[in-house]
Amino acid sequence: MERELQIRIALRWIFGWWLNLYGWLAGYSHCRQCKCTWNWTEHKVIYYNASSGMFPVCKMCFDHLPKQKIIRWARYLVEERWGKNWADYEKKVIESVDILKGG
Ligand SMILES: [Zn+2]
Repeated sequence: MERELQIRIALRWIFGWWLNLYGWLAGYSHCRQCKCTWNWTEHKVIYYNASSGMFPVCKMCFDHLPKQKIIRWARYLVEERWGKNWADYEKKVIESVDILKGG
């Protein structure tokens, strides 16, 4: 599973490096796993309440990473980037990832 993701990420960078370069220069944020920028990368929203969500990783990475790694990236976003308390998000994030991953 992760081997396939590594290959997919390498291919995205080979064919999309210039889109990432543009994204970085234009100030777009990026997928925490593959570092591809949001100007051309499809994100996957993880809801942590009825109306708010986050997207620590892109759809491609979400589909190929194990739940624990996705949750780790969500925690990184909450704690390191937002400076918020993970305990306030943990339960909902895990529920949401479970649902999106199909149980
Ligand atoms: Zn990604």
